[in-house]
Amino acid sequence: MTSSDTVTPPAAGRLSTGELAVTRHLLVHGPATRGDLSDLLRVSPASMSRLARSLVSDGIVAENAEPVPGVGRPRQILSVVPGARHVVGCKLTATRAYGVVCDMLGDVSATAETALPAPDAGGTVPVAATVRALAQLVGRLARRVPSVDGVGVSLGGVIAGRAVVREGTFLGWRDVDLAGPLRQRTGLPVVVTNDVTALAREQLWFGAGRTHATFGVITVGAGLGFGVVREGVVVEQLIDNGHLLAHAPLDGRGPRCGLGHRGCVAAYLNRDDIERRAAMAFDEVVRRAGDGDRAATAVIDGAARALGHLAATFAGALQTTHIVLAGEDIAAVAASPAMAEAVADRLRPGPRETQRCSLDITVAPLTFSDWAQGAAVAGIQAVLGAA
Ligand SMILES: [Zn+2]
Repeated sequence: MTSSDTVTPPAAGRLSTGELAVTRHLLVHGPATRGDLSDLLRVSPASMSRLARSLVSDGIVAENAEPVPGVGRPRQILSVVPGARHVVGCKLTATRAYGVVCDMLGDVSATAETALPAPDAGGTVPVAATVRALAQLVGRLARRVPSVDGVGVSLGGVIAGRAVVREGTFLGWRDVDLAGPLRQRTGLPVVVTNDVTALAREQLWFGAGRTHATFGVITVGAGLGFGVVREGVVVEQLIDNGHLLAHAPLDGRGPRCGLGHRGCVAAYLNRDDIERRAAMAFDEVVRRAGDGDRAATAVIDGAARALGHLAATFAGALQTTHIVLAGEDIAAVAASPAMAEAVADRLRPGPRETQRCSLDITVAPLTFSDWAQGAAVAGIQAVLGAA
């Protein structure tokens, strides 16, 4: 928000631009006084009072007196009412839907999961039956909280308009409107988000975004995924679905990826490529590496080295000092010292260079419930009217 009196008329249930800025600040940084918010968000004290009154009367925010030692008048502290909104988040995999129901702070009240229908002969998971299964999952979770205000669904692939699955990587979907039918069945607003984008949204409000306005997310699991946050704004749809980074060359004499590139990042790091090359399941490679098997250790070290280079390249292109690593396979890969060695080597300055750069890499192995929580946070942001 740039001007004190900029007010966008909210859609039903959504917040105005000013109300959203206040709510977002309180959600991300915790309780604050009207005076602090007025300074931080650059709104006049009179406007801030109006915004606070309206948020309090809508039940989104509570204002409580906090005694100040030695001063007669207590301070008025604004804080978000966590239960003011609830959203169901669902993460779809090839075979299952994992659901959570969250409050405004993204805290999970309940979890549930359900099997998705089996794919047809052409490898496509039936859409109508999937919508029915999701609606039932939403219904089960909705019973665990007083009321539900929206639904966020996340899945791997390319999503258009926060509604249509252009390319559903693991479901065999092409141009499937998922939000429309699910909205009809549940009677709730529905947003559909790429799963890594949803995770970036969750990190923006409740993770890396608290300290970094710009950061990248890399997920390593069934495929490589990328999320981008620039100056506090999530990039909703990547122009290349992460292709350019995933296939960046590392070693012209290295193994080939599924697309035939020699020694690209994916050739070392993508689970399918690792399994094809090792002729065994990824978990088995990890187990053997843990037992000291040299060939398996070399595979994991190669993946870790590729990940280190990928993180460094991503950070350099984004001009950030923070990269979040996540995904089912990340713990096994990031445990190898080869990742940190690759990053350190990339950061090492030349003999006459004085500028030093650091790269802060955090590792967050994710369960499917964590992925669903990301979908829920994307849903909360949509319900509140956040971009
Ligand atoms: Zn490649």
